[in-house]
Amino acid sequence: MQITAIIAMQSGGDAWEEELNTGNEDPQAYCERIIAEFNERESSRPGYEPRELLRWKAADNGVDLKHAWEKTSLVTEAGGYDKMRCTGCGATGKRHGVGQDSVIPDSSGKNRNICKGE
Ligand SMILES: [Zn+2]
Repeated sequence: MQITAIIAMQSGGDAWEEELNTGNEDPQAYCERIIAEFNERESSRPGYEPRELLRWKAADNGVDLKHAWEKTSLVTEAGGYDKMRCTGCGATGKRHGVGQDSVIPDSSGKNRNICKGE
């Protein structure tokens, strides 16, 4: 199966895409295995930072790394923001303005701006 894997450093930062052919293997298992093998192999290299799989998608579906926010509050909350929820992964956030790019995810974790999908 031809897939697009979304990979990032375990320490955070920007994710990137890699096209992979998983053969007959389960794509999730395949990605986890090759990343584990890569981390294992490279771990002795000075300055190496381990990678992790964030998500994967069938290559022909395309990949949207951004959350698909929808407004969940009927009226603007006290404090002047709208409550938002991602239709892809269920993440919540607050919108202090207009437009998808003004939403701040509630999670403070690394890669919080990347949608992990369903
Ligand atoms: Zn999302």
